[in-house]
Amino acid sequence: MIIVLKPNQKQETIDAFIKKLTAEYEVQVNTWVGTHSTVLGLIGDTTVIDSEYVAAQDFVESVKRVQEPYKKANRKFHPDDTVITLPGGQKIGGGSLTMIAGPCSVESEEQICLVAESVKKSGAQFLRGGAFKPRTSPYAFQGMKAQGLELLKKARKLTGLPIVTEIMSIEHLDLFEDVDVIQVGARNMQNFELLKQLGKLDKPILLKRGLANTIEELLMSAEYIMAEGNEQVILCERGIRTYETITRNTLDISAVPVIKRLSHLPVIVDPSHASGINWLIEPLAIAAAAIGADGLIIEVHNDPSHALCDGAQSITPDQFEVLSRKVNRVFETVSAL
Ligand code: PEP
Ligand code: MN
Repeated sequence: MIIVLKPNQKQETIDAFIKKLTAEYEVQVNTWVGTHSTVLGLIGDTTVIDSEYVAAQDFVESVKRVQEPYKKANRKFHPDDTVITLPGGQKIGGGSLTMIAGPCSVESEEQICLVAESVKKSGAQFLRGGAFKPRTSPYAFQGMKAQGLELLKKARKLTGLPIVTEIMSIEHLDLFEDVDVIQVGARNMQNFELLKQLGKLDKPILLKRGLANTIEELLMSAEYIMAEGNEQVILCERGIRTYETITRNTLDISAVPVIKRLSHLPVIVDPSHASGINWLIEPLAIAAAAIGADGLIIEVHNDPSHALCDGAQSITPDQFEVLSRKVNRVFETVSAL
């Protein structure tokens, strides 16, 4: 962290500030004295220093962070890829391509079991399905809630696929005890109280990027979970809001290599919410596999035209089978380069 002091500060002020910084934080302070101003260079762990607090001191001209504000999610402090392994042996991260597939929402036992069986046949290693749905309209289908979670467990029993499902409120935490991977949706990416509670669990958390959030904000949200002790975080690029209107969102494909450079956490891509259009899922999934994503999360519905949520972006089990084959071939080819 570089702190530029306002010109002509008294030496006692500077000394007192340096003393405070070295007493409160694990840092060393180097000082450069110019003709008028003094610059302080802080070396050490500056992640815990609040740069706004520093900037608010009346003798401080400006503050610049040179180190990222996240530590646990930072590749600098953890050079190896994090690989998340489930009790059943399924892995996310570390050079494989994990397929998570299933409907946007759980709608009935028949639907979730049918989709689960078909995506498993096509090579999916995880079953997705929303039971608590964040919908823009309060009048739209809100999900089957606790009953939906029970149906997901039935589908898991039938297929052996671990389940991935979204939590919307801390109040529901008890209901998620037997869920394999808890998803934090885009709208809750900065629900910090929720993130802190999830940080106390010993369970993988799939954290989706917010509609209008930067990569650094996504990593700071991961940091919230990790700072509480849970380091099993999977990041998901699911498209961000831009001025484009043809697609539902814009897939920020460069986020994948960028995040993987900055962080050791696995990164997966959701082409379904990124595009909102079923014919775009396959090319985007191929792009994600080629660019080094650790996995994909894809909405698959047995009858998209009657889906209660996100039908237009849902592909059929047959389309998923084709996609899965192509995506795996691309992944293998690119991995061998
Ligand atoms: C979902 O996965 O169904 C979902 C609501 O995703 P997002 O939070 O990315 O919009
Ligand atoms: Mn959806």
